[in-house]
Amino acid sequence: MAAERVLPAPARYYIAAVAAISGAIVASSLWSLFSGSLSRHEIAWLVGSTIFIAAATARPIELGPHVRLSVATAPQLMAAILLGPMRSAVAAGVGVTIGFIYHIYIHRRSDITDLLFNTGQSILSTLSAAVVYNLVSLVPLGTLGQPVSLLVSAESIHLINTLLVSGAIALSGQSAGFTQTFPRLLRADLLQYAALLVTGIVGALLARQAFWAVPLLVAPLALVERMLMKQREEEERNRQLAVMEQVNHLKNDFIAAVTHDLRTPLMVVKGFGELLAEREDELLEDERQAIDAINLNTERLAELIEMLLQMSELDAGMVVLRRASVDVPVVARRVLDEVRYHAEQKGVAVKLDVRGAVPPIAVDAARIEQVIANLVNNAIKFTPASGHVTVTVESDDAALVLQVADTGLGISPETLPHIFDRFYRARHVDGDRRQTGGLGLSIAKGIVELHGGAIAVESQVDEGSTFTVRLPRLVVHDTEDTDHALAGMLRPARPLPNAR
Ligand code: ADP
Repeated sequence: MAAERVLPAPARYYIAAVAAISGAIVASSLWSLFSGSLSRHEIAWLVGSTIFIAAATARPIELGPHVRLSVATAPQLMAAILLGPMRSAVAAGVGVTIGFIYHIYIHRRSDITDLLFNTGQSILSTLSAAVVYNLVSLVPLGTLGQPVSLLVSAESIHLINTLLVSGAIALSGQSAGFTQTFPRLLRADLLQYAALLVTGIVGALLARQAFWAVPLLVAPLALVERMLMKQREEEERNRQLAVMEQVNHLKNDFIAAVTHDLRTPLMVVKGFGELLAEREDELLEDERQAIDAINLNTERLAELIEMLLQMSELDAGMVVLRRASVDVPVVARRVLDEVRYHAEQKGVAVKLDVRGAVPPIAVDAARIEQVIANLVNNAIKFTPASGHVTVTVESDDAALVLQVADTGLGISPETLPHIFDRFYRARHVDGDRRQTGGLGLSIAKGIVELHGGAIAVESQVDEGSTFTVRLPRLVVHDTEDTDHALAGMLRPARPLPNAR
């Protein structure tokens, strides 16, 4: 069911008036048609046109809220030219009503207002096209008479349709007003209207010459319909993309603003927590435990906030790399030295394996350190006692390749494709100190890709995982200073969450 739509009183009166006038016209036309005598031939034309209009109406194309372009415009124009005012009004009235009711049935939308308005609009526009055609035909224009009357009547169907819809839109308070709406709608979808109107004219001419050829019109009509559908789908897709982009922007702004505001009070809590921890001697056992818990959780929170902030910066394309010539094995060793104690406590051995000569490479040292730390910390986290974590660094002319391999739990084939997704956590390790909510790998990937590199993973359950980072060697001309300057201007220096 469609959402209930409440129209303001003027719009309701307007639609009622359109429906009443067109209803009266159809009723009087029917009356005069059947009070006279219709030949079989005339009945066949009337029924044929009605069926054609009904079939075309059954598939309207939504151009906007309550604005429909129906391919029925073509058979309506055809009927107007062929049948004259009274009969074409009947064909349009009956045809559109049948087609619309079918449409409502299929789409389970019972909007009686739309039915009334669309039927009334079709009757009035068809009638006007027929009247205009007859009137212009009377003007002595010689050989121009026929084409001019066809064109003018085609345009009148377009004008009357647009006029009636603009009136409805203006009265329902949806837009700036009639004077703005009417020209806007008149210009909108001009090409499609032209295609439909030409099809209508060709249909009428064909029907006069060779009745059997009329079904051939289905092909161009179907083509116009497909074209319209495609265009609408494309527009809808673009609209959704724009909305998503906007939402993404808002989300980034929101995360950036909130995390920024969270940092300051957290730093205060952290400072006092550390101050209290220093008075260990004066504290009771349970007080010390409480303070330890406060400090541990403050640290977790600080790390999470930093990661969220980084993620939103990466998303917003705000991260500027401070590239400098970096000795990656030295950075890797520093990371391992920092985690060694924690790893050995767990019974996990960590080692560095530098294969061959590894010349320095132009990367952002702090960011690459962060990537290595994340991979190494994960490796230790998911490797049980007596396991190994090995960091390998090697280099060729094109790239530097760093691998972090562990003999740990491994990652199941189902979860492997999601491992770099944001907030993805396949396994929870209770009691682990680092809990960054599945952001680490996604940030690592973002950083590596910002360097023009790639990150990949191979894993076997119960055998271990190997993460491979490939950083291309770029030809860097003196970018060090400029990057530094640029980065300094764009972003105040701020500590990165790091390995512990
Ligand atoms: P988290 O903060 O949860 O570690 P990450 O993005 O760093 O977030 O990792 C996402 C998930 O990937 C982890 O929760 C874990 O399930 C899996 N994972 C990462 N590294 C490994 C590894 N070396 N071995 C097994 N699983 C891993």
